[in-house]
Amino acid sequence: MDQQENNQTKKIMFHSRPDRADMPIHIPITRCPPKGIGPLIILSSDVIGCHLHYWRGRSTPCQGENCEACADGQIPRWRGYLIVMNPKGDEKIMMEITAAAVPPIDVYFSEHGTLRNALLYLKRVGMKPNGKLLSKIETSARTLASLPAEPNLSNLLLRMWGMNTAEKNSPEIQRKIRGDRLKQSDFEEERSSLNNGHC
Ligand SMILES: [Zn+2]
Repeated sequence: MDQQENNQTKKIMFHSRPDRADMPIHIPITRCPPKGIGPLIILSSDVIGCHLHYWRGRSTPCQGENCEACADGQIPRWRGYLIVMNPKGDEKIMMEITAAAVPPIDVYFSEHGTLRNALLYLKRVGMKPNGKLLSKIETSARTLASLPAEPNLSNLLLRMWGMNTAEKNSPEIQRKIRGDRLKQSDFEEERSSLNNGHC
């Protein structure tokens, strides 16, 4: 009996605190509403884009040659992501854009070498929920130094797509989290999550 209990206990890895990867993603993802949105202050230095499928009830990156969704005849679509902030500076949002919105953004990037601190306006043709997305981008009067640090967008996307296993299983990260302990602010930032929208 004792031996059996012992064996069962050995199989369990207790983690009395969650990893960072277990915490909800605290920057909500948003698409442009029918009436448009902006100005938004861009915090990311560039767009991060990916070809995605809506597959088995969720958005998931195309896996290329071995992609199950492609094999099923699903066409991948490009989506781009930027972290933006409202002008009051009290809310960060992960904004999803489509290919049609990219050209003005690309021109700005070519001229400035970064999108950080630019003002982004998005609108939809015909003010329809899925109307073609158009963008306008301008320079901001703010100083770059007044912006918060650039959030790690690729990391957030990997977490959103459930591809954060390397981070979660890394012994280094585990040690770091155990050593640092989670600060109260980590919990306070988690009020909003991806539940109000999906990729
Ligand atoms: Zn695919």
